Amino acid sequence: MPDVMKAALPILERLAEGGYEAVFVGGSVRDILLQRPITDVDIATSAQPDEVMRLFERTVPTGIQHGTVTVLAGDRAYEVTTYRQESAYENHRKPESVSFISDLEGDLMRRDLTINAIALRADGTVIDPFGGIRDLREGIVRCVGDADARFDEDALRMLRAVRFMAEFGFRCSPDTWEALLRRRSLLRHIAMERVRMELDKMIGGASPGEAIAVLNESGLLSYTKDPLEARFFGGDGDFRSGRAYGALDRLQLPADRWACLLLLHGAKAEEAERTLDALRFAGKRKDEIALMIRLHMDMTGEAERTGCFDEAADPASERLRRLWVKLVVRHGTEAAESWLRIVRAANAAPYARAADWLENCLRSMPVATLRELRLNGKELAAHLERRPGSWTGEWLNRLLIEAALGRIKNGKEELLAQADIWKAEECAHE
Ligand code: ATP
Ligand code: MG
Repeated sequence: MPDVMKAALPILERLAEGGYEAVFVGGSVRDILLQRPITDVDIATSAQPDEVMRLFERTVPTGIQHGTVTVLAGDRAYEVTTYRQESAYENHRKPESVSFISDLEGDLMRRDLTINAIALRADGTVIDPFGGIRDLREGIVRCVGDADARFDEDALRMLRAVRFMAEFGFRCSPDTWEALLRRRSLLRHIAMERVRMELDKMIGGASPGEAIAVLNESGLLSYTKDPLEARFFGGDGDFRSGRAYGALDRLQLPADRWACLLLLHGAKAEEAERTLDALRFAGKRKDEIALMIRLHMDMTGEAERTGCFDEAADPASERLRRLWVKLVVRHGTEAAESWLRIVRAANAAPYARAADWLENCLRSMPVATLRELRLNGKELAAHLERRPGSWTGEWLNRLLIEAALGRIKNGKEELLAQADIWKAEECAHE
């Protein structure tokens, strides 16, 4: 038994003292049997939620309507859930309310897959009524009971099945796979947030490339409420050579993987943003991914216009350096670093061959943001004796690019001197 579970044993013991049954269940039991690292342990018990709250000093009723009470012990938190069954499913998704039961087997029966329906007692005995251990050994994802009925009850389970196939490199049992193909249109009943959370676990998981391949094979993404299929599997990606899903596995960060996925399928900036909206990405996460895609779009647009990546051209040109620095300043160093990781992972022609050189350029930029520039708009306007206006931002940006290129020093005097030169040039033109 791993340490995180040993640490939770006093909770099982306390419940036993109270006269209740209590076991470890779900993902943590599965992961121990697979000898994978476990993070959170889930506990199931015959005690009702109010009884759980009575037995422990520090509790939080985190999901009381589903029977879940969080028990705080030491610096850890444990979810303790009362044995339950979910009889009344509505609209092919999780029910609002559940009924509590007193037997463990009933609780295991309502779980999605055999590999997730194994319980472990404090004394180390395993309760496995549906052959979960055999399926773990043989590498099979299989529904508990009749697969059509289980997908009918909660259509999200189809995505979960795909996730565990990819995560563990398992096959699907033929019955379960056929039921999934028959039932896949039910996925439209599932809120896009929940779909996104499952996809996020796949993309952030051990084998995102495999997850995308299995999703593709299943056709599931054609049936989500906001259809995703065409967005993921249509189009002709900039990086795509024979569906290079493997690129996803070579990236570490989920945001890089999402951006890479969108680019693999040729999403242009607006389309990529629509996909992110369809997936209910918001705030910082959406911006992060969208910024990287915009940088890529700007890069491809400019590369086409200026020919700086043409076969014959040496990518290590001053023209490309200027373009790159401009894009780094516009979209930020984080987006630029992410883009470099992605073109490398996808071995994206023609950019990958310039990646080392571009990275060097990035590292040697003395400044990259207006915040770092040793001059602000007010100072600039005062110096030039002009009223601040939209021109101030434009000039500061031009100065920033020159400083980022190392053409002028990032000091107030030097920056103002450059502004004087531009002003004189302007006057000469007029
Ligand atoms: P993860 O490693 O992603 O946490 P997990 O199997 O622990 O995987 P959770 O979402 O944490 O997944 O759920 C815990 C347990 O609850 C599962 O192992 C499974 O027994 C059960 N479960 C979760 N979602 C469903 C569902 N949609 N239908 C039936 N049972 C489910
Ligand atoms: Mg879990």
